[in-house]
Amino acid sequence: MDLKNKNIFITGSSRGIGAGIAIKLATMGAKVTITYGKSKDEAENVFQDLPGEGHLLLALDVNDEDSVKEATDLAIKEWNGKIDGLVNNAGITRDQLLLRMKKEDFDDVYSTNLRGSFYTTKMLLKSMMKLRQGSIVNISSVVGQMGNAGQSNYSATKAGLEAFSRSIAREIGSRNIRVNSIAPGFIQTDMTDELSEAQKQALIKDLPLGRLGHVDDVAESVAFLLSDASSYITGHTLHVNGGMFMN
Ligand code: NAP
Repeated sequence: MDLKNKNIFITGSSRGIGAGIAIKLATMGAKVTITYGKSKDEAENVFQDLPGEGHLLLALDVNDEDSVKEATDLAIKEWNGKIDGLVNNAGITRDQLLLRMKKEDFDDVYSTNLRGSFYTTKMLLKSMMKLRQGSIVNISSVVGQMGNAGQSNYSATKAGLEAFSRSIAREIGSRNIRVNSIAPGFIQTDMTDELSEAQKQALIKDLPLGRLGHVDDVAESVAFLLSDASSYITGHTLHVNGGMFMN
């Protein structure tokens, strides 16, 4: 797999899986745009340690259409219109049983996890269409297909993101642009650090591969879907979950 000369825009790359993806892609020769919402210091640290040159560091709030426009316009300008890849990774949880869930819990998760990907994809797609090439990878979740008690908001956005991916894949396949999803299982990041040790051990017990996932497990799969090694794959959801869910 080779990502040399590919310019890749990644949302939510200040921490966790997004930061792991940025480091992996840069290690494989890509130029990456690191974007941060609230975690500017963490993003700067990731940015400073990236191997290679030509990377960008930008503020980006996926809830804010103007912020997405500003960041995507800057990336398009800096890279002379050549955008080869987009990774929609930014995501949040606001877990609660449905009867206790507030409207804001639903709306915040929807606007970050799903509408944010609509903004970034729409704003970067024109550049990809002009060059008739590109690969978009949307980070979904295993619960988008399994469901999960306490995550009706989150799992609905992830199922929606996968359907969004398949629909865009059909719209723009003729322009040589591919759109796929990756559905991670439980990956060790700030998002899953909220689980107690007992909850983690209970999860691991039921996992065929017997361990939680690492950000690198997801980053490797993202690299594959962005690379020419996957040039005949589109509209697919790749499960990176240690066997937690199979279909
Ligand atoms: P994380 O450690 O909590 O990091 C979340 C990232 O999203 C941060 O970089 C954060 O940026 C960014 N973000 C949140 N709200 C944003 C906004 N409004 N605008 C821009 N960026 C925003 O989470 P993670 O575990 O790495 O998860 C990354 C993705 O993988 C998410 O889509 C998540 O749903 C998915 N996923 C994770 C797991 C898991 O087990 N960890 C499993 C399945 C799927 P700032 O901190 O800079 O605001």
